[in-house]
Amino acid sequence: MTRSRALKILEIGTPVAALLLLVVELPTMTPGHALEMAFFAVLAALAFRLRVRYAGNYLGVEAAALVPAILLLQSPAAVILICAAADLLAKVLRRNRRFTLSSAFDLSQISLSYGIAAVFFRAVHRVGGGPVTVATEAAGILLVFFFVNTLLVFAYLDLSRRVPREQLLEMGLFQLVTLMLLSPIVALEILVYPHYGIPGVLLAFFPVVLASFVVRGFSSVEEKYHEVERENRQLDVLREIANIFSVGGRGDRYQRIFEALRRLLPIQAMAIVEWTDESSKEVAIHVAGDVSTSPEAVAAWVRENRLDERAIDATTEAVERRSDEDREIRLIAGPAHQLIARLSTYELNTGVLILESAFRSIHARPAVSSISTLAEQIALVLQDRAIRAQLQELSDRNRERAETLNQVLEISNELKKHLNLEALFQTIVNAAGRSLGFNAVLLSVYEPDRNAFVHHAQFGLDRKWDEMKGREIPAGDITRNWTEENRVSKSYHLRQRTPGEHGFTDSLISRINRRSGPNAWRAHETLWIPFVSGERLVGCLRVDDPKNGQSPSLDTVRALEIFANQAVTAIEIARSYTDAREQSIRDGLTGAYNHRYFQESLQKEIGRAERRGRPLSVLLLDIDDFKSINDSYGHPVGDAILQRIVAEIRNEVRGDMDLVARYGGEEFAVVLPETPSDEAAEVAERVRTRIDERLFRPPDTNEIVRATVSIGIATFPNDARNKKELIDRADAALYRAKRGGKNAVVATSTSPVPPPISH
Ligand code: GH3
Ligand code: MG
Ligand code: MG
Repeated sequence: MTRSRALKILEIGTPVAALLLLVVELPTMTPGHALEMAFFAVLAALAFRLRVRYAGNYLGVEAAALVPAILLLQSPAAVILICAAADLLAKVLRRNRRFTLSSAFDLSQISLSYGIAAVFFRAVHRVGGGPVTVATEAAGILLVFFFVNTLLVFAYLDLSRRVPREQLLEMGLFQLVTLMLLSPIVALEILVYPHYGIPGVLLAFFPVVLASFVVRGFSSVEEKYHEVERENRQLDVLREIANIFSVGGRGDRYQRIFEALRRLLPIQAMAIVEWTDESSKEVAIHVAGDVSTSPEAVAAWVRENRLDERAIDATTEAVERRSDEDREIRLIAGPAHQLIARLSTYELNTGVLILESAFRSIHARPAVSSISTLAEQIALVLQDRAIRAQLQELSDRNRERAETLNQVLEISNELKKHLNLEALFQTIVNAAGRSLGFNAVLLSVYEPDRNAFVHHAQFGLDRKWDEMKGREIPAGDITRNWTEENRVSKSYHLRQRTPGEHGFTDSLISRINRRSGPNAWRAHETLWIPFVSGERLVGCLRVDDPKNGQSPSLDTVRALEIFANQAVTAIEIARSYTDAREQSIRDGLTGAYNHRYFQESLQKEIGRAERRGRPLSVLLLDIDDFKSINDSYGHPVGDAILQRIVAEIRNEVRGDMDLVARYGGEEFAVVLPETPSDEAAEVAERVRTRIDERLFRPPDTNEIVRATVSIGIATFPNDARNKKELIDRADAALYRAKRGGKNAVVATSTSPVPPPISH
């Protein structure tokens, strides 16, 4: 059986029992006591009015009127009628009369208790007893009344949860003491009645009136005391709530709010719903105590009722009271009393506080006003915290921006210094990693010839770098992820793992600091910032493993793009510098080094050969009868042949050591460091043969042209002491080769190599 049904049965059963007793006893009532009955009814009514509340109890002084009535009239029915009449009379005397089920219960439980006490008296009464007998009987009546009354009242208080159980015992004892104190007065009334009649009883009753007034005075003092005490506790709770959210406050703050509120009221469950900022439709739910509903259900209720959208105005109650069935959201599964307080300050509507308790006392006026004050305090504290968090975020952001700006300035300064490209790349990856908070940064340059990215600089990848450095990644492996879907600003953020993806999009870092949440950076995520100059792809920056574990914000991506722009500028500057230098040392038509560079390099190489005591050879090469080629096929064909001849020479010499230069019109020079005369002769012979065997087909013609070369060789230090001598000797050898019939190689120190047998 549920508590509420038991309560209903009690509330209805008691009046029914009282009525039944009245009906059964009515016939045994002796007539002719109308005057006495009227007198006791007035006296009882007076006693009802004198009833005072003290220490949470009602002092039932009506016993001083009803116990004599039982003793004198000796009829349960009469007592019940007196009770009913007195109650009616007392209600008429009162200004605000209310007849409710609980007031009906109140009357019937008193009537029934005294009625049963009267039945008991009739059973034990002996006629003609002395004063001691009368006093004993009076005490007996009081005891019976006490037990029946206590039983009924406590059952009612407990079932309706008006008073916590632990307080009931105290109330019972208090009640018993009061009744015992009344018993001498009752005895006195009985003793004076036979001699002095009604005036005597009135005189004996007088101390009760007096005592009631005295107690009434105490009672109001006590009430004030309780109020002050409650206000003190409320102040403590206010202070506590302010502390809970202060800087350095630790532990579950909402649990602590709950504990603090519990010190004031017997609440059993609490939910605090906070609307977060307006853009996200999120609400944060914090529950504490005996909560059986889910936070999602609370959130759903908030949304359904659009509580988070409705502004508080004059029509909104600060604290709503709900009970059992009209609770829309139930924190406790069973029946309960609920308070819903809006958490709002003058500026901001921050949320809702829901409290539940099985005790009705949380609906009492002082409780509601306390909660209203506390809700205001909680709202203030929440608002304060929100503002502080916003300020913090703002200052963090500003600091980050200032730092980024500093780094950009620094890099710009380095750019102006024409630092070498690799050092500048290193500065860029360091800055991107340190100031934008990434544990891994990789800079790769795009090589259009090979359509590939080549890794050039890294931050945080020291351990892998040996294996990664200079590695070529086919451009498509990366650029295929650069889709519109992955685009953020001018960058590409790959969030989903592509099925069947191979190694490259794997995390740069094997162990990533994993965080949860919707924005957490996951191991397979990748962010590329392309380097683009106009329409041209120049390279890319790749970042991984953000230090805060969160996917980078748009702000961060934009800052990375600033670094990327710096990198592009650096690459462009370096490239144009390289181009200009190349142009100044190379021949425009053939790409071979020019005469000036040949002279400079030869000078350096001779110096080096001299220091090391090593040989060095020079080949001078002249195309045979080039004039007639020009004459027969035209100058453009002649130019093309010059280009092809350079290509053929390059094929026969060492790319990393030997130097091929255009010495003059159709004359070329080759510097061969570390090469003695005989080896130089072999190289020269290979070059001559190769060109001799080639048939040139100049572009855009159907012509097939044959060209041959003559080569003169001189070797340092055997043939010459210095550069000028060395070139003169080679030139002399070339002259001899020409004179010997062309298409030949002649070395200074040896006799001419004979021409091969022609096939
Ligand atoms: P040989 O060396 O065998 O004695 O005869 P040759 O015809 O090659 O004689 P010479 O070295 O005197 O001729 C050089 C010719 O090369 C003169 C010039 O027209 C031609 N020449 C020089 N520079 C260029 C050039 O850049 N392009 C073209 N098409 N011809 C050039
Ligand atoms: Mg010539
Ligand atoms: Mg020539």
